[in-house]
Amino acid sequence: MHEQAQAATGREATGQAEAALAALIRVGRGARRIVAFTGAGISTESGIPDYRGPGGVWERQAPPTMGDFRENVETRRDYWRWRRDGYPALNAAVPNAGHTALARLQQSGRVTAIITQNIDGLHQKAGSDPARVIELHGSAHRVRCLDCGTIWRAAEIHHRLLDGDDLPTCRLCGGSLRAATILFGEPLPAGALRQAVDAARSCDLMLVVGSSLIVNPAARLPAIAKEEGAVLAIINQTATPLDRIADVVISASAGSTLARFAAALAPDTTAVGADQSGT
Ligand SMILES: [Zn+2]
Repeated sequence: MHEQAQAATGREATGQAEAALAALIRVGRGARRIVAFTGAGISTESGIPDYRGPGGVWERQAPPTMGDFRENVETRRDYWRWRRDGYPALNAAVPNAGHTALARLQQSGRVTAIITQNIDGLHQKAGSDPARVIELHGSAHRVRCLDCGTIWRAAEIHHRLLDGDDLPTCRLCGGSLRAATILFGEPLPAGALRQAVDAARSCDLMLVVGSSLIVNPAARLPAIAKEEGAVLAIINQTATPLDRIADVVISASAGSTLARFAAALAPDTTAVGADQSGT
């Protein structure tokens, strides 16, 4: 063991991640209400690009603002061209081990809510209860009329794009349509934010997964949980501004880490009876 510890720094990092995972499992076993907070890092393993991360599309090209979108027909046309080309891949993405692990923890009652910054719908696809997935930035699978507020299914609008409608409008009022997601400079949906704050305040373990915790106010939620007495754990490939107040920090991939966490806390139902004797 000592010889191994003196080996490459990569191996040391692995050792630290292993020790941190063991600590997370200990904390998790004692937690009654775990709330997960997920960001782009949980979905990159499903092939969803991190638009805001290093090398992401918004690093090369400024994202549209809502004012620009409302006023400029060319911005809207560009947007729908981008959607027509990009939506099929998003729609075809499948949940990875991280999403599946969180769904399993939710079904077993360990995870009471999932707060997500993602718009890809992969938590629901993995089997998480849609009523307990709080989508802070909205969903790419819904399209909203900016005038009357009617929500349309993205698949339905996508068919219109494929049929040659390059600027789809609301069939009820003729208003401009946009995916029901948050643009830069827009406030978060009040209902979702309120639900998220309630979840953060009432949990005893806040588990951050794959978020660099930079985009406020969402990034404030784990700090709120910590201030209210919860244990704060962060699983992310890179450092975050909240690492210094976190109780557990794991620098590793979300999928494999969550799979092992779930296996420890929510073993297959057939094994539950035999596994609980020591605790
Ligand atoms: Zn409308």
